[in-house]
Amino acid sequence: MCYTRYVQAIGYGAFLLPRTGYSQFRIVGKAPPVCGPKTSRQSPEQRMATHGGRLAMPRLITARKTCARCGIEKVREEFYPKKRMTVCNGVVRSKYCIPCHLAVAREDYYSNHFQRREANRLWMSTHREQVSEKNRLYRERNREKVCELNKAWIGRNRQHVYEYNRRRRTQKQGLPSTLTPGQKTDTWSYFDSRCAYCKYKGELTEDHFIPVTCGGGRTWDNIVPACKSCNSSKRHSDPLKWIIIRFGDFGIYLSIIEYLERQSG
Ligand SMILES: [Zn+2]
Ligand SMILES: [Zn+2]
Repeated sequence: MCYTRYVQAIGYGAFLLPRTGYSQFRIVGKAPPVCGPKTSRQSPEQRMATHGGRLAMPRLITARKTCARCGIEKVREEFYPKKRMTVCNGVVRSKYCIPCHLAVAREDYYSNHFQRREANRLWMSTHREQVSEKNRLYRERNREKVCELNKAWIGRNRQHVYEYNRRRRTQKQGLPSTLTPGQKTDTWSYFDSRCAYCKYKGELTEDHFIPVTCGGGRTWDNIVPACKSCNSSKRHSDPLKWIIIRFGDFGIYLSIIEYLERQSG
């Protein structure tokens, strides 16, 4: 059957084509337009008036389609449909096959990833109140879920929480807390990741050489690695007295002092 003639014959009623029928047509060459080019400004009524009651050639639908990206011919169902219908009731489909469509979408998404992130950050910083209000409402509405998530996060990030609490503790007492992760790494490697006092190698804690209660802050020139045993034994004591009592070795004190004094500049 000649599709063009068929459409001309039934004119505007081309959408009456049976649903199963359209996929049987093949186009050989480009079909001539039945009437002038379709302009989007015109309403269907206007178009009907100018073109004597007939619509422009509907998009022809073929059973197979060639992907514009990988160039492989596939059946129509392997192309995503667009949310738009043609006159003959066939769905317009994406020009890329499904894997290519996804790939293109992914490329588009990541091509401006950093730009978009910057834009989001900028917006968030200028709409701080709006954001915090929205977050507060969300927390109120999903109290249990948020609680669960927080618990899970704390479980996964114990180190962060310890760090945070330590900072809070010193800041509360008005003491400086300026130790950066880099400085901490530096100190740890200087002491060979061993307890600064007993040279134990294992789980280490941050020890305030001059205790917090005596005004020692969390700074590069006051934090040394210490094993749990030494840390809890030392507690609020004067470092020199404690070292002499526990180890009877003045050298330990000197070596630590030497390092810390270098950091205080
Ligand atoms: Zn493809
Ligand atoms: Zn120790």
